[in-house]
Amino acid sequence: MAENPFFAPSTLPYELPPFAEIREEHYLPAFRRGMAEQLAEVEAIAGSTEPPTFDNTIAALERSGRVLDRTATAFFSIASSNSSDGIMEIEKEISPELTRHSDSIRLDRALWARIKQVTTSDPEEAWLLQKYREDFIRAGADLSETEQARLRELNEELSRLSTEFAQALLKAATEAALVVEDPAELDGFEQSRIDSLRQDDGTYALPLLNFTAQPALSQLTNRDVRRRLFELSVGRAPGNFAIAARMAALRAERAALLGFPDHASYVVADQTAKTVEAVEEMLGQLVGPAVRNAGREAEELAGQAGFPIEPWDWPYYSEQVRKARYDFDDSAMRPYFELERVYRDGIFFAAGKLYGVTFSERPDLGGYHPDVKVFEVFEEDGSALGLFLLDPYARANKRGGAWMNNLVDQSLLFGLRPVVLNNLNVTKPASGPTLLTYDEVTTAFHEFGHALHGLFSQVRFPRVSGTSVPRDFVEYPSQVNEMWVTWPEVLANYARHHETGEPMPAELVEKLTAAEKFNQGFKTVEYLAATLLDWAWHRLAPGQEVADAEAFEAAALERAGIAVPQVRPRYRTNYFAHIFASGYSAGYYSYIWSEVLDAESVEWFKENGGLRRENGEHFRRELLSRGGSLDPLSAFRSFRGREPRIEPLLKRRGLD
Ligand SMILES: [Zn+2]
Repeated sequence: MAENPFFAPSTLPYELPPFAEIREEHYLPAFRRGMAEQLAEVEAIAGSTEPPTFDNTIAALERSGRVLDRTATAFFSIASSNSSDGIMEIEKEISPELTRHSDSIRLDRALWARIKQVTTSDPEEAWLLQKYREDFIRAGADLSETEQARLRELNEELSRLSTEFAQALLKAATEAALVVEDPAELDGFEQSRIDSLRQDDGTYALPLLNFTAQPALSQLTNRDVRRRLFELSVGRAPGNFAIAARMAALRAERAALLGFPDHASYVVADQTAKTVEAVEEMLGQLVGPAVRNAGREAEELAGQAGFPIEPWDWPYYSEQVRKARYDFDDSAMRPYFELERVYRDGIFFAAGKLYGVTFSERPDLGGYHPDVKVFEVFEEDGSALGLFLLDPYARANKRGGAWMNNLVDQSLLFGLRPVVLNNLNVTKPASGPTLLTYDEVTTAFHEFGHALHGLFSQVRFPRVSGTSVPRDFVEYPSQVNEMWVTWPEVLANYARHHETGEPMPAELVEKLTAAEKFNQGFKTVEYLAATLLDWAWHRLAPGQEVADAEAFEAAALERAGIAVPQVRPRYRTNYFAHIFASGYSAGYYSYIWSEVLDAESVEWFKENGGLRRENGEHFRRELLSRGGSLDPLSAFRSFRGREPRIEPLLKRRGLD
């Protein structure tokens, strides 16, 4: 049997994982050898008889676990982008082992005792040392044996409940589907869509997507069908209310064990927000204007409908108003958004103007799927910077949405240059060019903003490389990159008809930008309501049990001043997967927190002449290149020259 490709560093350029050689049977042995090697390395660090120094403790920890790191990076990337039954089995088997592995490092008393004695005067080292201390304390390193035992119990029960919550939700998507017998009730859908919903028993079933306002509500003309669909949506997986309440109580207990008044305080302590007061102050500034805006929009929609509208009417009538007022038609735009051209003449073009970088395809370097393209990225002076991989198409074995991840973390410690990957979920045409919607173009620019954050990383240690920044900061650089989508010089360069090469007509461009502020009251309120709901659950004090979760939810929205009758939260408690089935508890505020910095930065670019090389250089030097190697807000201040202000965001969302 050939040697396991994870046991030694890849020999490919930039240490790109050797996907052609990796087979499923390599993963488990590589994970296990990787964990064993790292444990031995950690034991040597913890058991050293030398006095603890930054190099023999923190830097040594950074150097540990190379096999595990290579394996996990490739595996979890594949698990998201190109999964299989075998990969899913491995994931189920290895996940609890990985949790135990990281616990056994973070709860190692000898190691923790040494970390506490390390001192350093170098600012980058000091910042990393502080990160390590926070990580260990937050994982329970300072607790007594009894407390650590209780912590492990809490973690285990929370992880079990979170799986239950997720599985109930998965089932509800089809079990709580809207079922109709008469296809006439689906009036508003295209015939091909209706046909695709037909079941074996002759009925038609419309599955639920995981948020409140189902997209179908904007098309279905039958008001009673809309109401039924809406009620199914908000009432799905009712058993999850009790699970959520139990999880909130356990999280509050865990926070108390770790010395925090509540779970939200625990979560934000290592974010840029730092305190619950800072988050509440920002949200407080948005609620009033957003509610007033939504109220105005509701009146306008009632005018269009001829009666006071209900939550299930909003998407339908707002679509009517949008068409009437902006004549916005996605299908008229798509011929101008051809995938390859959007990248070459839009995304790469803008990056060239701003940062001087160039891109050259490397067909000799393979991805994990034939559709993955590999580009080598060069600096202005021709020196090599890293690799950018693009996996644009939807596949049955790929998770939904769009995201960026690293395949190799940049670090000076290992002399490694970055390899980053962008995933999109664009439908692959049977033949001919791939034409994108406007939303897909925006998503492509967004994900490429994350890619630049990874590519420009210029830090010493892998722990703080590229996008390894707090969750309430990471969306900021990617949101900024969206500003170039409609920047005239960029748009004129890429938005050309795929057959004629004609530029997009001026009136289409105008419609594109005019429709941007439309329906912002609704969007902001549904987002803020979900955020404030997340917040209410995680501000609960330890011991404060919630018996009736639905009543708690209603009271929380009322108290926060965000209870708009026609606009329900984007997620109700029972299907709020971000906070009960993945890592965003007390963190849903992050999106708008990042957007404050984003709006500030967009304003800075505009004040300074926009798409200019020196502007890009400043943003890159002060912000993108720093990764998580310093306090992110101080990087922002160096870039912007002042503390962030909320006004640019209010202006952008039409809330000023
Ligand atoms: Zn993002």
